[in-house]
Amino acid sequence: MASDMLSVKPGQKCARCTQCLDNSSYSIIYTKNCESIKEVICGICNIVEYMDDYKKSGIITTRIMMEASLAKYRFEEGNFSSLREEYRQFYLQNKVPLLKVANDVEEIKNLVDKFEDKHWLPYLKKYWNETTDRGHIADSQNCTIMMWGSAGRVLITAEEPADNITMIFSDYVTTEEDIKKYGNMTQRGGIQGINATKEKAVDIMSELIKMKKIKFHPKESVKLAGL
Ligand SMILES: [Zn+2]
Repeated sequence: MASDMLSVKPGQKCARCTQCLDNSSYSIIYTKNCESIKEVICGICNIVEYMDDYKKSGIITTRIMMEASLAKYRFEEGNFSSLREEYRQFYLQNKVPLLKVANDVEEIKNLVDKFEDKHWLPYLKKYWNETTDRGHIADSQNCTIMMWGSAGRVLITAEEPADNITMIFSDYVTTEEDIKKYGNMTQRGGIQGINATKEKAVDIMSELIKMKKIKFHPKESVKLAGL
Protein backbone atom coordinates (compact mmCIF):
# COMPACT_ATOMS: atom_id res chain seq x y z
CA MET A 1 0.00 0.00 0.00
CA ALA A 2 1.44 3.32 -1.00
CA SER A 3 0.33 5.00 2.17
CA ASP A 4 2.46 2.57 4.25
CA MET A 5 5.61 4.40 3.39
CA LEU A 6 4.19 7.61 4.69
CA SER A 7 2.71 6.12 7.85
CA VAL A 8 5.86 5.57 9.84
CA LYS A 9 8.06 8.46 10.77
CA PRO A 10 11.69 8.01 11.80
CA GLY A 11 11.80 6.93 15.44
CA GLN A 12 8.10 6.11 15.60
CA LYS A 13 7.21 3.44 18.17
CA CYS A 14 4.78 0.50 18.07
CA ALA A 15 1.49 1.67 19.55
CA ARG A 16 1.36 -1.41 21.81
CA CYS A 17 4.82 -2.48 22.93
CA THR A 18 6.60 0.83 22.21
CA GLN A 19 9.38 -0.92 20.24
CA CYS A 20 10.85 1.37 17.62
CA LEU A 21 9.42 0.60 14.18
CA ASP A 22 12.56 1.58 12.26
CA ASN A 23 13.99 -1.35 10.27
CA SER A 24 11.30 -3.80 11.26
CA SER A 25 8.04 -5.01 9.77
CA TYR A 26 4.93 -3.27 10.92
CA SER A 27 1.19 -3.35 10.30
CA ILE A 28 -1.25 -0.55 9.94
CA ILE A 29 -4.58 -1.00 11.67
CA TYR A 30 -7.32 1.06 10.11
CA THR A 31 -10.55 2.23 11.66
CA LYS A 32 -13.62 0.09 10.89
CA ASN A 33 -14.67 2.13 7.87
CA CYS A 34 -11.04 2.12 6.64
CA GLU A 35 -11.08 5.91 6.43
CA SER A 36 -8.22 6.58 8.78
CA ILE A 37 -5.32 4.88 10.56
CA LYS A 38 -6.16 3.64 14.04
CA GLU A 39 -2.68 2.53 15.04
CA VAL A 40 0.62 1.30 13.67
CA ILE A 41 1.97 -1.80 15.39
CA CYS A 42 5.09 -3.93 15.05
CA GLY A 43 5.16 -7.37 13.39
CA ILE A 44 5.31 -9.23 16.68
CA CYS A 45 2.31 -7.40 18.18
CA ASN A 46 0.48 -8.17 14.95
CA ILE A 47 1.11 -11.92 15.14
CA VAL A 48 0.30 -11.93 18.87
CA GLU A 49 -3.09 -10.47 17.97
CA TYR A 50 -3.68 -13.15 15.31
CA MET A 51 -2.78 -15.81 17.86
CA ASP A 52 -5.12 -14.30 20.48
CA ASP A 53 -7.95 -14.33 17.93
CA TYR A 54 -7.23 -17.99 17.19
CA LYS A 55 -7.19 -18.90 20.89
CA LYS A 56 -10.57 -17.21 21.40
CA SER A 57 -12.34 -18.48 18.28
CA GLY A 58 -10.51 -21.65 17.21
CA ILE A 59 -10.66 -20.27 13.68
CA ILE A 60 -7.60 -21.10 11.60
CA THR A 61 -6.83 -18.19 9.29
CA THR A 62 -4.34 -18.20 6.42
CA ARG A 63 -1.95 -16.08 8.47
CA ILE A 64 -2.06 -18.43 11.47
CA MET A 65 -1.71 -21.45 9.16
CA MET A 66 1.47 -20.00 7.64
CA GLU A 67 2.93 -19.00 11.00
CA ALA A 68 2.19 -22.47 12.45
CA SER A 69 3.77 -24.31 9.51
CA LEU A 70 6.88 -22.18 9.82
CA ALA A 71 6.94 -22.71 13.60
CA LYS A 72 6.68 -26.48 13.20
CA TYR A 73 9.60 -26.45 10.80
CA ARG A 74 11.63 -24.36 13.25
CA PHE A 75 10.82 -26.65 16.18
CA GLU A 76 11.71 -29.74 14.16
CA GLU A 77 14.96 -28.21 12.98
CA GLY A 78 15.58 -26.73 16.42
CA ASN A 79 16.80 -23.68 14.58
CA PHE A 80 15.89 -20.28 15.95
CA SER A 81 19.20 -18.61 15.29
CA SER A 82 18.01 -16.39 12.47
CA LEU A 83 15.03 -15.17 14.47
CA ARG A 84 14.77 -11.96 16.41
CA GLU A 85 14.51 -12.52 20.17
CA GLU A 86 10.86 -11.37 20.32
CA TYR A 87 9.92 -13.92 17.67
CA ARG A 88 11.78 -16.68 19.46
CA GLN A 89 9.89 -15.80 22.62
CA PHE A 90 6.61 -15.82 20.72
CA TYR A 91 7.31 -19.30 19.31
CA LEU A 92 8.33 -20.69 22.68
CA GLN A 93 5.35 -19.17 24.53
CA ASN A 94 2.91 -20.44 21.89
CA LYS A 95 4.50 -23.78 21.09
CA VAL A 96 1.41 -25.85 22.00
CA PRO A 97 -1.19 -23.94 19.95
CA LEU A 98 1.24 -23.46 17.04
CA LEU A 99 1.97 -27.18 16.81
CA LYS A 100 -1.73 -27.99 17.18
CA VAL A 101 -2.57 -25.72 14.24
CA ALA A 102 0.29 -27.20 12.19
CA ASN A 103 -1.03 -30.73 12.83
CA ASP A 104 -4.62 -29.71 12.12
CA VAL A 105 -3.48 -28.15 8.84
CA GLU A 106 -1.72 -31.40 7.91
CA GLU A 107 -4.93 -33.31 8.55
CA ILE A 108 -6.85 -30.88 6.33
CA LYS A 109 -4.11 -31.14 3.69
CA ASN A 110 -4.59 -34.93 3.61
CA LEU A 111 -8.24 -34.30 2.75
CA VAL A 112 -7.18 -31.87 0.02
CA ASP A 113 -5.02 -34.71 -1.40
CA LYS A 114 -8.11 -36.95 -1.35
CA PHE A 115 -10.10 -34.24 -3.13
CA GLU A 116 -7.37 -34.07 -5.75
CA ASP A 117 -7.48 -37.84 -6.32
CA LYS A 118 -11.29 -38.02 -6.37
CA HIS A 119 -12.20 -34.85 -8.27
CA TRP A 120 -9.35 -32.75 -9.62
CA LEU A 121 -7.15 -35.31 -11.39
CA PRO A 122 -9.86 -37.61 -12.81
CA TYR A 123 -12.13 -35.01 -14.45
CA LEU A 124 -12.03 -31.43 -13.12
CA LYS A 125 -8.62 -30.69 -14.61
CA LYS A 126 -9.91 -31.81 -18.02
CA TYR A 127 -13.03 -29.68 -17.56
CA TRP A 128 -10.80 -26.71 -16.69
CA ASN A 129 -8.39 -27.21 -19.57
CA GLU A 130 -11.22 -27.47 -22.09
CA THR A 131 -13.12 -24.35 -21.06
CA THR A 132 -12.18 -20.78 -21.92
CA ASP A 133 -14.25 -19.31 -19.09
CA ARG A 134 -12.26 -18.37 -16.01
CA GLY A 135 -14.89 -18.29 -13.27
CA HIS A 136 -17.00 -21.35 -12.44
CA ILE A 137 -19.46 -22.27 -9.72
CA ALA A 138 -21.10 -25.39 -8.28
CA ASP A 139 -23.13 -26.31 -5.22
CA SER A 140 -22.88 -29.08 -2.70
CA GLN A 141 -25.34 -29.78 0.08
CA ASN A 142 -24.03 -27.02 2.34
CA CYS A 143 -21.39 -25.19 0.31
CA THR A 144 -20.93 -22.96 -2.64
CA ILE A 145 -17.88 -24.11 -4.62
CA MET A 146 -16.03 -21.63 -6.80
CA MET A 147 -13.24 -22.22 -9.26
CA TRP A 148 -10.97 -19.66 -10.85
CA GLY A 149 -7.52 -19.84 -12.34
CA SER A 150 -4.65 -18.13 -14.04
CA ALA A 151 -1.09 -18.90 -15.17
CA GLY A 152 -1.31 -22.65 -14.68
CA ARG A 153 -2.75 -22.50 -11.19
CA VAL A 154 -6.37 -23.20 -10.33
CA LEU A 155 -8.05 -22.19 -7.10
CA ILE A 156 -11.11 -23.96 -5.76
CA THR A 157 -12.89 -22.39 -2.83
CA ALA A 158 -15.59 -24.16 -0.84
CA GLU A 159 -17.58 -21.74 1.21
CA GLU A 160 -20.23 -21.95 3.85
CA PRO A 161 -21.68 -18.70 5.14
CA ALA A 162 -19.04 -18.24 7.84
CA ASP A 163 -16.22 -20.58 6.85
CA ASN A 164 -14.17 -21.25 3.78
CA ILE A 165 -11.20 -23.14 2.47
CA THR A 166 -9.34 -22.54 -0.78
CA MET A 167 -7.35 -25.28 -2.49
CA ILE A 168 -4.76 -24.75 -5.21
CA PHE A 169 -3.96 -27.17 -8.04
CA SER A 170 -1.88 -27.22 -11.20
CA ASP A 171 -3.56 -27.54 -14.60
CA TYR A 172 -0.40 -29.06 -16.12
CA VAL A 173 -1.00 -32.21 -18.13
CA THR A 174 1.77 -34.76 -17.70
CA THR A 175 3.33 -35.86 -21.00
CA GLU A 176 4.82 -39.24 -21.98
CA GLU A 177 8.23 -37.60 -21.83
CA ASP A 178 7.65 -36.37 -18.26
CA ILE A 179 6.77 -39.88 -17.16
CA LYS A 180 9.93 -41.27 -18.80
CA LYS A 181 12.03 -38.60 -17.13
CA TYR A 182 10.45 -38.36 -13.68
CA GLY A 183 8.32 -41.49 -13.28
CA ASN A 184 4.59 -41.41 -12.85
CA MET A 185 4.12 -38.08 -11.11
CA THR A 186 0.96 -37.62 -9.16
CA GLN A 187 0.44 -33.93 -8.81
CA ARG A 188 -0.06 -32.56 -5.33
CA GLY A 189 -2.11 -29.51 -4.62
CA GLY A 190 -2.31 -27.61 -1.40
CA ILE A 191 -4.20 -25.23 0.83
CA GLN A 192 -4.04 -21.70 -0.50
CA GLY A 193 -6.23 -20.05 2.11
CA ILE A 194 -8.43 -20.89 5.04
CA ASN A 195 -10.85 -19.22 7.40
CA ALA A 196 -12.49 -22.00 9.38
CA THR A 197 -12.20 -24.00 12.57
CA LYS A 198 -10.47 -27.33 12.10
CA GLU A 199 -13.77 -29.18 12.62
CA LYS A 200 -15.57 -27.05 10.04
CA ALA A 201 -12.75 -27.43 7.52
CA VAL A 202 -12.83 -31.22 7.98
CA ASP A 203 -16.65 -31.18 7.55
CA ILE A 204 -16.42 -29.10 4.37
CA MET A 205 -13.69 -31.26 2.86
CA SER A 206 -15.44 -34.52 3.84
CA GLU A 207 -18.65 -33.31 2.21
CA LEU A 208 -16.81 -32.51 -1.03
CA ILE A 209 -14.94 -35.82 -1.05
CA LYS A 210 -18.23 -37.72 -0.61
CA MET A 211 -19.79 -36.08 -3.69
CA LYS A 212 -19.95 -38.32 -6.76
CA LYS A 213 -19.08 -35.49 -9.14
CA ILE A 214 -18.90 -31.74 -8.78
CA LYS A 215 -20.85 -30.13 -11.61
CA PHE A 216 -19.34 -26.74 -12.31
CA HIS A 217 -20.77 -24.26 -14.75
CA PRO A 218 -19.30 -20.94 -15.86
CA LYS A 219 -20.13 -17.86 -13.87
CA GLU A 220 -18.43 -14.64 -14.86
CA SER A 221 -18.77 -12.99 -11.48
CA VAL A 222 -16.46 -15.61 -9.87
CA LYS A 223 -13.07 -13.98 -9.78
CA LEU A 224 -9.97 -14.76 -7.75
CA ALA A 225 -11.87 -17.35 -5.71
CA GLY A 226 -10.81 -17.21 -2.12
CA LEU A 227 -8.26 -14.47 -2.45
ZN1 LIG B 1 4.75 -4.00 19.21
